[in-house]
Amino acid sequence: MERRNFIKNISLGAAAAIISGEVVSGERNNLKNIAMDNLQTLEFPSLPYAYDGLEPYMDAKTVEIHYDRHHRNYFNNYVNAIKGTAYENMPVEKVFAEVSKAGNAVRNNGGGFYNHVLFWNNLGKGSTKPSAELSAAINKAFGSFDKMKEGLGTASKTHFGSGWGWLYLTPDKNLAIGSTPNQDNPLMDISSIKGIPLLTIDVWEHAYYLKYQNKRADFVDNIWNIINWDEVSRRYQQAMK
Ligand code: MN
Repeated sequence: MERRNFIKNISLGAAAAIISGEVVSGERNNLKNIAMDNLQTLEFPSLPYAYDGLEPYMDAKTVEIHYDRHHRNYFNNYVNAIKGTAYENMPVEKVFAEVSKAGNAVRNNGGGFYNHVLFWNNLGKGSTKPSAELSAAINKAFGSFDKMKEGLGTASKTHFGSGWGWLYLTPDKNLAIGSTPNQDNPLMDISSIKGIPLLTIDVWEHAYYLKYQNKRADFVDNIWNIINWDEVSRRYQQAMK
């Protein structure tokens, strides 16, 4: 209950800061560090903006339910799944590397926990663009920024059933596009696409149904308005090291 209140307070603080035009740098950095470096901390990360921070492209009610119920449940279930096991003190990225041995509870809830942290962090308001380095890599891999959007958009729209669309860096450091089912991601040993996730689109119906109903394509087309390219570029820099 205390943790819950703590998170609520942070969210409200972020809302106030966003409304007043401040940058919530401390909180963002905190979440970035959790997302990139080590998720074994087992604290449910705060949302880096208010529930209505992605309006009108993603409505406040959807963000609230998606974050506070769906994402939180994955987190809680992951914590329970690894409790008392060899995975308890292992960074979740390392768990993913051998997730085929860890069982479905760890696979599904670990993925659900981690993928949503990436997802919330790669969204945000503003008209940021990819860094010069990421832009060059996108042009090299896909021909142009618009071709990359088209490719990731199509992969996300046409993925059958629940899952995620991905822009990721392959082990040989090339950009690639693909999708994964359920809560799988490219870090998992069982995944058919492998690499470091840079940008992800949640195409589970809970991500868009309240606002877009069955029109997943409209949701995917609109998400380009709220991509935080500063964060995607930062992830690219880190993944290239
Ligand atoms: Mn989701």
